[in-house]
Amino acid sequence: MVGVVSVIGSGPSGISAALELAKDNSVLLIEQAGMLGGKLNELSCKGEIECLECGVCSGLKLIDRVKKEKKIEIMLESKIVGVSFLESKACLRIEQREQTVERLVDGIVLATGHDIYKSNEETDRVISGARFEREFRLGIAHDFEKGEKVAFVQCHGSRDRHFNYCSRVCCKYAARFAKRATEKGASVTVFYLDLRDKKMREIENVRYIRAKIGEFVLDNNQVVVRYTSENEEPCEDKYDRIILSTGLLPSSSNQALASMFRLELVDGFAERSYAPLPIVTAGTLRGPMDIIESINSGYQSAKELMSKMNAKRE
Ligand SMILES: Cc1cc2nc3c(=O)[nH]c(=O)nc-3n(C[C@H](O)[C@H](O)[C@H](O)COP(=O)(O)OP(=O)(O)OC[C@H]3O[C@@H](n4cnc5c(N)ncnc54)[C@H](O)[C@@H]3O)c2cc1C
Ligand code: SF4
Ligand code: SF4
Repeated sequence: MVGVVSVIGSGPSGISAALELAKDNSVLLIEQAGMLGGKLNELSCKGEIECLECGVCSGLKLIDRVKKEKKIEIMLESKIVGVSFLESKACLRIEQREQTVERLVDGIVLATGHDIYKSNEETDRVISGARFEREFRLGIAHDFEKGEKVAFVQCHGSRDRHFNYCSRVCCKYAARFAKRATEKGASVTVFYLDLRDKKMREIENVRYIRAKIGEFVLDNNQVVVRYTSENEEPCEDKYDRIILSTGLLPSSSNQALASMFRLELVDGFAERSYAPLPIVTAGTLRGPMDIIESINSGYQSAKELMSKMNAKRE
């Protein structure tokens, strides 16, 4: 046994980091929610005829492994409220329900994830990708239907004057839903300015329109989309449902985490810590990435933490 380490956050990156670290350490996995999995609990399986490789079930399988791993102690409904750095350890102050406990650890993986962009354009028929994912999973959102007119609107809330980075996941999830919609016989349009993902550019039977979106106006049971075409012409079209490709935001708690764990923030995301103890970051705390990338980031960060801990001992 090498040491006692803590992983904070149990999304795809946190659970993979915890599994890797449990090979040689005892691991304290701290999660503020009442269940493990992070955003995995809000995402749906998009495949029906064939698996569309969205990564959700790969993440869910890891949760089962974490629950069975004896070297991982799981603390749910738990929040870090303070940390002090001692000579070779950190003392974490953790609030769990009504109680506050202190735990000494040799190293920390921060895997506290991201927030989701909230659109103020949402109505019953204009739905954010995040809400569609959640409602589709719960069976509240109805599946695509033959003859239904569906439009996907890319880069909603990303790559604009507020958030100038690419969220990297929304082209992928929208492409999977668009494929499913065409398979169900819906008529699918994708409005875009730039399509970053190859899969999103190559779906059959999809109408791609390069356009700047103006507004959505409810008209009986449909939505009129007003937009400016590539030729600078004002146009409009009617749809039954609009799905907005909403992306990732840095978590609103990153500022507080940064001052506690001495993180350097770039565009609100955190790659490195300058604390006097081995601390590494993983997953979407570092920047936008999908589930499989987050899982890999967790494994990598666990390895990085181990080598930092070993170097400190030598
Ligand atoms: C609308 C939408 C759809 C998506 N669809 C897909 C898809 O189909 N396929 C795909 O591969 N990716 C998809 N993604 C991306 C996917 O959600 C992320 O890649 C993944 O969730 C990142 O995992 P993570 O571990 O970094 O963070 P998260 O999943 O955000 O997990 C972070 C965890 O840390 C916990 N936490 C936060 N702060 C603290 C704290 N202070 N103390 C304790 N715990 C804390 C949180 O409660 C949470 O459980 C989608 C994203 C969005 C927004
Ligand atoms: S990877 Fe995604 S689409 Fe494929 S079976 Fe798993 S959850 Fe469904
Ligand atoms: S992943 Fe696609 S939809 Fe999302 S911000 Fe990047 S280019 Fe836009």
